[in-house]
Amino acid sequence: MRNIRIHVAAALQPGAEVSLPAPAAAHVVRVLRLRAGDALTLFNGDGHDYPARLTSANGRDAVVQIESRQAISTESPLRITLAQALARGEKMDWIVQKAAELGVAAIVPLLTERSEVKLDEARAAKRLEHWRAVAIAACEQSGRAVVPALHAAQPLAAWLAALDADTSSTRLVLHPGEGCAARALQPTSRATLAVGPEGGFGDSDLPALHAAGFANLSLGPRILRTETAGLAAIAALQAIYGDL
Ligand code: SAH
Repeated sequence: MRNIRIHVAAALQPGAEVSLPAPAAAHVVRVLRLRAGDALTLFNGDGHDYPARLTSANGRDAVVQIESRQAISTESPLRITLAQALARGEKMDWIVQKAAELGVAAIVPLLTERSEVKLDEARAAKRLEHWRAVAIAACEQSGRAVVPALHAAQPLAAWLAALDADTSSTRLVLHPGEGCAARALQPTSRATLAVGPEGGFGDSDLPALHAAGFANLSLGPRILRTETAGLAAIAALQAIYGDL
């Protein structure tokens, strides 16, 4: 049976008993049908796994005892931030899930000139919670013990203004046409990737990105859909400079 990994947003210590939060308890007891004595692994995003055993499982409640603590090394030496223009419908979920599996360190949903998705404040907060849950589920499944940071959706200009002056991260904008190929970049351990929406970056987006030090990265002669482009770039960079 595969290793069941459950994310718990709490401090974890070997020897401690932890009462699983309601959604995790329901998943463990009702969906996975684990029983007292069964093994599972908890993690809280601190880079460790906590092998544990279910000590009681009654209806909605599940209590586990943590048995040990193991450092996990499934993080890439390449820290990638994916700044992804909001894609429509479920595409964004898909991007968040796959980017987390491919090992990104952070995801920033961007509103750009041609973004077709509009988010009011309440909806934006709900989407953010939802994407965080998608990223956590991807970590549970893929064996990551560090959850990528998910930032609130924000306009491109606000994001660029808040980018720290630290330019140690290679800033790249994915743009069809002229641009550097991934294998021709200076070797790096940090990269920030900006990906345009379905309709591409608008006329005001690209100059703003270039002024902030973003260089064009080309993914070859074919135009990729937005949900393909970021993931292809992450895979290429992880293969050349990371751990793929
Ligand atoms: N109609 C748009 C294409 C948008 S594709 C146009 O012609 O510009 C959506 C996004 O995917 C783009 O904004 C870009 O960030 C990325 N992308 C698609 N194909 C690419 C390629 N071959 N190289 C680099 N980026 C690409």
